[in-house]
Amino acid sequence: MRWKGRRVSTNVEDRRGGGGAKAGGISILGLVVAFVAWKFFGVDPQQAYQATKQVTSQSQVAETQGLDHPTAEQQEAMDFVGTVLADTEDTWTQVFQQQLNSQYVPPKLVLFSGVVNSGCGTAQSAMGPFYCPTDQKVYIDTSFFKLMHQQMGISGEKNTTELARRDQAGDFAQAYVVAHEVGHHLQTLLGISEQVQKARNQANKVQSNQLSVRQELQADCFAGIWANRTQQRTQFLEQGDIEEAMDAAQKIGDDYLQKRATGQVVPDSFTHGTSQQRMQWFQTGLKSGNISDCDTFNQTI
Ligand SMILES: [Zn+2]
Repeated sequence: MRWKGRRVSTNVEDRRGGGGAKAGGISILGLVVAFVAWKFFGVDPQQAYQATKQVTSQSQVAETQGLDHPTAEQQEAMDFVGTVLADTEDTWTQVFQQQLNSQYVPPKLVLFSGVVNSGCGTAQSAMGPFYCPTDQKVYIDTSFFKLMHQQMGISGEKNTTELARRDQAGDFAQAYVVAHEVGHHLQTLLGISEQVQKARNQANKVQSNQLSVRQELQADCFAGIWANRTQQRTQFLEQGDIEEAMDAAQKIGDDYLQKRATGQVVPDSFTHGTSQQRMQWFQTGLKSGNISDCDTFNQTI
């Protein structure tokens, strides 16, 4: 994926480093780790809140400032995330004007390491990226990106020509994660999250999970629209990028995670959709570029 030399968003808050952040006890860590094994990432707002609430009571978090002297690697992570966020801003400003006749209000993105205070409570880095609707911020833990990078780097190594771009392995998959979280912000702006929450409160557990799946798949479809628009504007895609995202979707689909966790798939407890469903909806957004094609609530998923 090509990303250097484009506009970098000013909506990134760097809260990495500085130390001073102390997590709760081991049992809480265990809880969070179990939670991550189950979700890996893409935690929906309510779940993020539930999980963070349990951590909050036993955590003391000192707000950290941005890094005073970032390493080249840390600066690059900042620039990368800022560029992807700027791409989502350009995409959704345009789509809101053209298709919804309204003005897009972008989210802030908080980069953190260790523990962070959010409007939805205190979050551990092990939880993975999440969106908090209360403060309308996307939270990204850079160590999670490193983990993804390692995973994608290994699985993305297809042949010797691929070795040349090994450093970049996982870039597009990381960008896709940011775009997916911004998708949840769109759902908040459009009132979709609120409607889903209301419906879930009145639904049984199975129906409630299905609504959550539809909400997650819509965020994937929105991420597809971001890829479509950004490609039109900047030609940023390189060979293998889409496969990389699909590979990521494959690894993060609920069925894959559940197989890894328990050895069997339990469809009714899906909250993010299967790998197949996630790929399909990302592709739908990518091909169409039209927000009306992402109505996952009124279509067969
Ligand atoms: Zn999600």
